[in-house]
This record gives sequence, C-alpha cells and structure tokens, in this order.
Amino acid sequence: MNDNPAFGADLQPFMGIPSFMRLPVTRELKDVDVAILGVPFDSGTSYRTGTRFGPRKIRETSLMIWGHNSTLNVTPLKKLKVVDYGDVSVIPTSIEHTMTAITRTAGEIIETGTTLITLGGDHSIALPLLRAHAKKYGPVSLIHIDAHIDTWEAEFEAVPYSHGTPFRHALQEGLIRKGEYMQIGIRGPVSGENDYVDARKLGARIVTIHEVMEKGVKEILKEIRERMKGPVYVTVDIDSVDPAYAPATGTPEVGGLTSYQLLQLVRGLHELNLIGFDLVEVSPPYDHGDITAILASNIVFEYLSLLAIKKTL
Ligand code: MN
Ligand code: MN
Repeated sequence: MNDNPAFGADLQPFMGIPSFMRLPVTRELKDVDVAILGVPFDSGTSYRTGTRFGPRKIRETSLMIWGHNSTLNVTPLKKLKVVDYGDVSVIPTSIEHTMTAITRTAGEIIETGTTLITLGGDHSIALPLLRAHAKKYGPVSLIHIDAHIDTWEAEFEAVPYSHGTPFRHALQEGLIRKGEYMQIGIRGPVSGENDYVDARKLGARIVTIHEVMEKGVKEILKEIRERMKGPVYVTVDIDSVDPAYAPATGTPEVGGLTSYQLLQLVRGLHELNLIGFDLVEVSPPYDHGDITAILASNIVFEYLSLLAIKKTL
C-alpha cells in the first residue's frame, strides 16, 4: 500500500484530482478501516454561511500532508486502509431531508465496521451523525470542542434543528452517556448568566476557554480520560480555535485555542475507545491563504493517526 498517495515523482500537491490525501474515491468498503465522508451543508447556519464549501477545500489542502506523523511516530496509511467515500447527497433547502440522508449514509458506512470521519458542513450535521453512531454503539461518550455550547433551545419552535441545537436533541434523545459529555473551549458573549445553566442541567460538563488556559491542555486531557468510559465520539467545531488562526468560520469568537492547542488536544486522545469523528464549520469564503482549511485537514490527519495507533494496540 502506498503510504503517501498524494505525492510522487510526477505528482505534486497542486496537480491532479483532490480526494482527501489523494485516497481512492470509492463506496466499496470491503476491508476498509476508515472512510472520509463530506457533508457540504450549511443551511443550519444562523449567521454567515459558506461551510458547504468546507469538504472540498479541506480535501484540497489535505494534499500537502506528507503522510508520516512525526510527533506520534506513526504513518497512518501504512496501518489503515482508508478511502474517500465522497459526499452525502444534501438538499440545501431542507435540513430535515438532509439529516435523514446523513443518518442513512453514515449508518451504511459504520454498519460494515468501517470508522467514519466526516467533514462538514455546519454543526447541525452532528445530530444525524450521532444518531447513526448511537444506533450501532449505544449511547456515546462525547467530546465536543467548540466556542459554543450548541445546546440552545430552538430559536423558533417550528424549526427545532439548526447548528445551535444538535446536542440538546442528542441529550434528549439519549444518544450521549450520562456524565460523559464535555464541551471544551466555550466562550463568547451570551445574553445572561443563566445561559450556561441550562446546558449543565442537561448534563454537559462545560470547560470554558478560561479553564483550558488556566489549567493547560494536559489537565483537560486528564479529566477526559477519567470521565469517558464508553465509546468515544469526537466533534470538533473549528471556531473553537481563535479567529487569528481560523478566520474561516460562520460564527467567530475571539480569544480561542491556538492551532497548536487544538492539535495537542486531539493528539492527546489516543488512549480512548475512539469510534467516530467530525470536523465542522470551516467556511472557505472567509479564509485567508487557506489557513483554516490547512488546520482542518491537519486535525483530521491527527485523528487518523490516533486510529492507526489504536489498530496496533
Ligand atoms: Mn458548534
Ligand atoms: Mn461554534
């Protein structure tokens, strides 16, 4: 198996057709360890849109990843058979139809025993992804890295789903194990001191950005390891990172993680029973020099490295 399909004597990162890390684009999942899936959907967004262009741009920037993770000392594509499954057929004008399509496609993939890595899209896609994973694994332990809690009540009662509500539904639907839900990096202006009370009542352990900066990433990782006992699903909203490092997102909040802190946080999850991952809210029209998309593809590579380590354990 070529451990570095994006490169070759006659192939440069700016050449050719950009699947994720130039992996084969296929829906044949026999003996496949990991599938990369795009969900180019941003109609759950409340402020500025553009994350529908996220999966394509993340695939493009992934061509600069050479293949070996020197920090974790692993070459993921040597250990794992990975494919690019393409995108979910979204319907940009219907969040409900799209959610059904996401649950169905994700379910088809993970039913075969293949681990799913999803590229968003806005954060509303996490709910149908969690539905699919909970159907296979039962309720999950959830690590949610974000500036926002996303457990808000629906703004409009008639429209319960948006990128601000997925985890309220997930909790109410019993998709998350009790006491095993951490929101990490939380910050930004809220309407009052009670805004986070509701999330805590629902069962979220809120780790504010202040707490991350005071304690450091290592301490947070320690708590994650102590708390998470079930199958672990990880959902990363790129707006957890400071807009200085990740400007291309729909709802930027100042004072976030550095790129390195997010890498450190994801890299530190290697002892957990990892079953699924998504990275959302990359909105390329707001990017500068592709810095947000480059970070995003590297975070995906970091998670892929963790799966490679898990396979060798
Ligand atoms: Mn979010
Ligand atoms: Mn967010």
